[in-house]
Amino acid sequence: MPLDDLAHVERRITVVGAGLAGALFATLLARRGWQVDVHEKRGDPRLKGYEGGRSINLALAERGRHALRLAGADPAVMSHAVMMRGRMVHFADGRTALQRYGKDDSEVIWSVHRGELNLSLLDIAECAGVNFHFHRTLQGVDFEARRARFVDERNGDLHELGFETLVGADGAGSALRAAMGAEIELGERSEFLDHAYKELEIPPGADGGFRMEPNALHIWPRGRYMCIALPNDERTFTVTLFLPNQDVVDVAGGPPRGPSFASVTDGAAARELFAREFPDALPLVPRLEHDFEANPTGVLGTLYLDTWQLDDRAVLLGDAAHAMVPFHGQGMNCAFEDCVALAEHLDGTADRAAAFAAFQAERLPNARAIQAMALENYLEMRDRVDDDDYLLQRELEQA
Ligand code: FAD
Repeated sequence: MPLDDLAHVERRITVVGAGLAGALFATLLARRGWQVDVHEKRGDPRLKGYEGGRSINLALAERGRHALRLAGADPAVMSHAVMMRGRMVHFADGRTALQRYGKDDSEVIWSVHRGELNLSLLDIAECAGVNFHFHRTLQGVDFEARRARFVDERNGDLHELGFETLVGADGAGSALRAAMGAEIELGERSEFLDHAYKELEIPPGADGGFRMEPNALHIWPRGRYMCIALPNDERTFTVTLFLPNQDVVDVAGGPPRGPSFASVTDGAAARELFAREFPDALPLVPRLEHDFEANPTGVLGTLYLDTWQLDDRAVLLGDAAHAMVPFHGQGMNCAFEDCVALAEHLDGTADRAAAFAAFQAERLPNARAIQAMALENYLEMRDRVDDDDYLLQRELEQA
């Protein structure tokens, strides 16, 4: 085979998952001249709108923006982003206070709409030459023969294909991870939090504008639980209510104390909770009962893996390798950093097993550190941001 053809074959890769990490990683490699095929379980969201139109947003930080810049995606993404210069704390007594993230507006984070972000990344990837195959759910892998089996869940049609290497960007419930785990010990364990979350929406006001300060991440800290709200560029806010799963039982005995998802089970109970604990937010969420009952309750967990690779045949990145609780707003940012690191390692050598090992050695300790910080930040957000000593300390730090 002529050398040019060989180089072409060697620079081919198959990605599973066209979510945030899959689309970005595919772009980074395609821009370096790789032939990239991405297989995604869902249909193409550009054809029929994103997941029923519910707005869910994410905090984008500098770590993530760096990766977007390298993929040429930063201008498109930032055209929809809303700047958040700090936390707007809503105290129990009705006061509010802005705690800046940095000294001025050069140190801020951004709220981006998950659906719009995914659409932008798919468009940019396609322009870079990535081939997408939608309605392809990874079902099984024969690593020996290097063949992967995908199913079209609409009609059960099976599609089998050969691969050089599979990259698992298929999220927290990764099917590729399960297939790798059947071959080798990955050291996989998941730790679920005894708290869960529910998303609600603050629509635009009667004048079509934001109903609260738009350039902030709003927090209602209440000790054992909290609410947060992030702005969307369509002038809505996505509110996330975090509650324990069960009422607390005091060591000294006595009746269990709520609130929790065990006692707040329907829209009427959610309204009572808001009236009592988040009274300034209640009038802003007109479809509280509907949202509470229609939207799923999300579980929160951390996924730890000791091994992210199967020699040169498969590697995991993003949530498939290290899903984390969302309290530091860093899961996507961390996944984007993985994409840059993996693309650089892969492009730097013909030895894929060595590239994956170097990628894991670089990224696994970072992912572990961010996972730990994300768990710690839950305590900080729900319990300490309205604490007088904490506020004084922050004022002194910023003086
Ligand atoms: P995903 O986004 O889950 O994408 C996986 C893709 O793979 C999907 O398109 C899926 O359809 C596809 N797929 C799944 N299985 C298969 C299969 N078998 N075959 C083919 N395709 C498959 N991160 C932040 O940085 N900032 C935040 O503010 C933030 N807030 C969050 C709030 C909440 C409530 C939650 C739950 C998470 C939050 N995160 C945040 C984390 C962030 O959502 C994830 O880290 C990020 O989505 C990971 O991207 P990914 O591409 O690895 O996985």
